[in-house]
Amino acid sequence: MGEPSSSDVVIAGGGPTGLMLAAELALAGTDVVIIERRSDQTVDGSRAGGLMPRTLEVLDQRGVADRFVSEGQLHPFVGYGGTTLGVADFPTRHPHLLALWQGDIERILASWVLDDLGVPIVRERAVEGLTQDDAGVDVEISDGSILRAGYLVGCDGGRSAVRKAAGIGFPGVDATTSWMIAQVDMDDPEVGMRPEGGGIGPVDRVNGGSPYGVVLKEVEPQPGGAAPSLDELRAALRVAYGTDFGAREPRWVSRFTDMCRQAQTYRAGRVLVAGDAAHIHPPQGGQGLNVGVQDAVNLGWKLARVAAGTAPDSLLDTYHEERHPIGAQVLKNTLAQVALATGGDRHQALRDTVFELLAMDEPRRRMAGMMSGLDVHYDLGDGHPLLGRRMPDLDLSTAGGAVTVFALLHEARPILLNLGDPGAIDLGGWAGRVDLLDCSMVGPWELPVIGEVPAPEAVLVRPDGHVAWVAGPEAPSLPAVITTWFGPANGSS
Ligand SMILES: Cc1cc2nc3c(=O)[nH]c(=O)nc-3n(C[C@H](O)[C@H](O)[C@H](O)COP(=O)(O)OP(=O)(O)OC[C@H]3O[C@@H](n4cnc5c(N)ncnc54)[C@H](O)[C@@H]3O)c2cc1C
Repeated sequence: MGEPSSSDVVIAGGGPTGLMLAAELALAGTDVVIIERRSDQTVDGSRAGGLMPRTLEVLDQRGVADRFVSEGQLHPFVGYGGTTLGVADFPTRHPHLLALWQGDIERILASWVLDDLGVPIVRERAVEGLTQDDAGVDVEISDGSILRAGYLVGCDGGRSAVRKAAGIGFPGVDATTSWMIAQVDMDDPEVGMRPEGGGIGPVDRVNGGSPYGVVLKEVEPQPGGAAPSLDELRAALRVAYGTDFGAREPRWVSRFTDMCRQAQTYRAGRVLVAGDAAHIHPPQGGQGLNVGVQDAVNLGWKLARVAAGTAPDSLLDTYHEERHPIGAQVLKNTLAQVALATGGDRHQALRDTVFELLAMDEPRRRMAGMMSGLDVHYDLGDGHPLLGRRMPDLDLSTAGGAVTVFALLHEARPILLNLGDPGAIDLGGWAGRVDLLDCSMVGPWELPVIGEVPAPEAVLVRPDGHVAWVAGPEAPSLPAVITTWFGPANGSS
């Protein structure tokens, strides 16, 4: 098959964010292509080590969560600043962290997106520049060709060429601390976490043994330094443990820092950024990949509709409005976690105090809600507590039988659930844009962190699983809300 010369949407970068965005666009029928620098999906080193509850939920909304769950290990907690926060009591079908390395996550994602959904990917090419006009973007590819796109999304990682070429600022906090990270063979090392963060653990979490993953905070921080050598790693191990455990055969040795930066805007005209291209931060708490995938799920359905001309261009602005605050919150909580993992008596006292607070139920639930992604709330105005929050995966009864909310979201289409009198809602000219289901639900409506909320008469659920409207005396008119998110009724202009 020849390479395309134009596409409605070009995605730069086929990492976790780019793949998830491609899936969302493909489900909506958008013409999309990924340009990817790597020759295959192999990931250097371990990188991300797991999927958070909300990420598992968004994958479940597309019917593919089981593919990931069947290959990893479930833990009833998430990490925070050197301690763990229980999530087992949250009302979700995924009250756990799924331990799974990024290489496996990308392999499973790629098999769904590239093989099952058939998204084309052009490998061993990089996006190097862009020029945008009112009608589209000329995307400059490393082989000298130009690809014409309606929209370009930079999912090309922390050093994003797209972000730079679009002139999007990347302000933040400079690095003060650095860690070595490596995978090496070792003889019976001391496995476990260290008080200042990091530690040693087998790469194969099920069978154990060599090779081991090592993360070591550096005594002399190297904020801008290149990858360390094996000798430097050995020396650092001797400082930390008194021995280097015979470290040898490095599979991978690298360094990361506590630098935090966030794109000033997630949108510059027809160019958008998502994932690490939009926010970078240290890996404390294991959030980067998760937030990137969730960026993609927020952006995908909006971009699909704007690219197709069925929704107003302003819909794309809501991507920045909704996701930028989430990214800012992640930067803030990773900075706090780095501070908590700092050595010395004063920080030990801080750690003891914070951990004492987190042992209490309310603080634990608040922080676990944030780290798990289950507390995400987009500001869609005042109203019912469901508004802007994730729709719970409830068991619904319908005339056609039992169905779960997430099963209704597999095709990434908006759905209006009428929980009141059957036939009470008529979608009129929006019938093709939004699905309507008469249904009922027996049992409590419960949200993580918040608890039980009043049962609604009707809810409009966006393709990303967030609630856009809840029926009620104070609620805005349904046609106005549908027009905002999904465009005017068929036949109107
Ligand atoms: C040590 C470490 C531990 C981590 N632990 C966790 C964790 O436990 N949990 C977690 O959620 N996250 C973790 N992360 C973060 C996670 O790895 C990233 O947040 C995640 O990979 C971001 O995905 P992305 O798709 O946005 O970017 P990337 O994974 O960086 O993917 C970008 C893609 O774009 C390609 N590319 C780059 N430039 C171009 C270009 N110009 N043109 C075309 N293609 C291009 C690259 O080849 C790559 O495939 C960790 C990271 C590190 C370094």
